[in-house]
Amino acid sequence: MMQSKLSRSALCFPALFLVLAWLSMQMAAQDAHKTWRLDYFHTGGPGLEAFSLDRVVVEPLAWPGHPSGNIEPRETGVYRFEIRDTSNHLLLFSRGYSSIFGEWTSTLEAGDFNRTFHESLRFPAPAGPVEVVINKRDPKGIFHQVWRTVVDPKSIFIDRASPPKQAVVEIERNGDPSEKVDILLLGDGYTAKERGKFVKDARRLTETLFRTEPFKSRRKDINVWALCPPSAESGVSRPSTGVYRTTPIGATYDVFGSERYVLTMENRAMREIACWAPYEFVEILVNNETYGGGGIYNLFSTVAAGNDWANYIFVHEFGHHMAGLADEYYTSPVAYQPPSEIVEPWEPNVTATTERGMIKWKDLIGATTPLPTPWPKEEFETFSRGIQERRRQIRAERRPESVMSALFREEQEHEMKLFGAAPFASAIGAFQGANYDAKAFYRPQVDCIMFTRNEVPFCAACNRALSEVMDWVTGKKAR
Ligand SMILES: [Zn+2]
Repeated sequence: MMQSKLSRSALCFPALFLVLAWLSMQMAAQDAHKTWRLDYFHTGGPGLEAFSLDRVVVEPLAWPGHPSGNIEPRETGVYRFEIRDTSNHLLLFSRGYSSIFGEWTSTLEAGDFNRTFHESLRFPAPAGPVEVVINKRDPKGIFHQVWRTVVDPKSIFIDRASPPKQAVVEIERNGDPSEKVDILLLGDGYTAKERGKFVKDARRLTETLFRTEPFKSRRKDINVWALCPPSAESGVSRPSTGVYRTTPIGATYDVFGSERYVLTMENRAMREIACWAPYEFVEILVNNETYGGGGIYNLFSTVAAGNDWANYIFVHEFGHHMAGLADEYYTSPVAYQPPSEIVEPWEPNVTATTERGMIKWKDLIGATTPLPTPWPKEEFETFSRGIQERRRQIRAERRPESVMSALFREEQEHEMKLFGAAPFASAIGAFQGANYDAKAFYRPQVDCIMFTRNEVPFCAACNRALSEVMDWVTGKKAR
């Protein structure tokens, strides 16, 4: 018996090997144009930062990017990941990005205990074994390798199962995803009955984006898709008012204790829904009326789609997400602690220097424009402090949202008048006050979508940064 068993195994082995080899070739052919995703856990706390592999998955759709855009032309983000050929270390793909973990490390609680966040890296299907490397910017702005792993496309543990299929709404299609910027609008907190409302919100916000430069002139370069799995209840969680909801994307207000900050920590759930649409950029529309939103570079942005200021929030947060634009405001409260040392920020629209030749947007500054550029700073700050105090009061007293909207309109009217009469109202220079700091950082123009809720365009530096991202995502410019 023993002899016979051995003979059968010996005979079967080459056949099994051939079948496995054939299967692996078949899978490689099927995966050739697909989007791959590496999911990992990012853990940190006092003295700790660790990465651990969750899984590698093959998403159901093709890679949506232009082949010429695989390597990012600039070094952006707090983190940057690279895909390299294991045999010769040739760089095949790179992307800068920021993360919820990265923001969390600048909050007070990160000094007290550990937390874990789920994150993803997406890239085109590799032809052979590749190393995946994550680099992190140090406080001086220099990148260092913090994690490395190897992905072998032949591994049987690469997950090729498709998550439950989602119905995609085509909001605007201007061409093949590989030639276009693909924006995905994800609905959260909309019930099945509210699907029509979601599509209406998605269309309205898309039109808002296309009324804003540089998106207005680039409309034909952009596709917009929408997805909205139904929620059991209407709206998303808002812990500061005792509201808790289980929603498909898991978006919530009050992130890091900031009442208006909306994010989701449920990355895997979000990715498994999003993977049914082609996308480079995602904005989550939450079905709420309370002012709120958020935006993280190359992760996602969010907006409370039912708020009176939703059109503004949508575009502002998308600026963070698409081009890594910094907040140019500095008088609203934020959850972050100030940096221990002031270094030049990597973001394209803020600077720590007033030296003409060192400013990122120096080519846009007129030869006679003074640096720093004068503006009615004291008057702005005095008025803004009053507004912030009343804003806190309105939330503390849980007044109706219309009261908050009225306060923002009052603020807008005052600022539009103040800036309109400013001596360098339309100049490009270096205006002190930006990036949550009244003194250390400068912004390019007196006003910008990244500074106030006023009816103004993106400043020249923000506009250029957004255009450059669209150029390389669509393959418009040789790298
Ligand atoms: Zn700006």
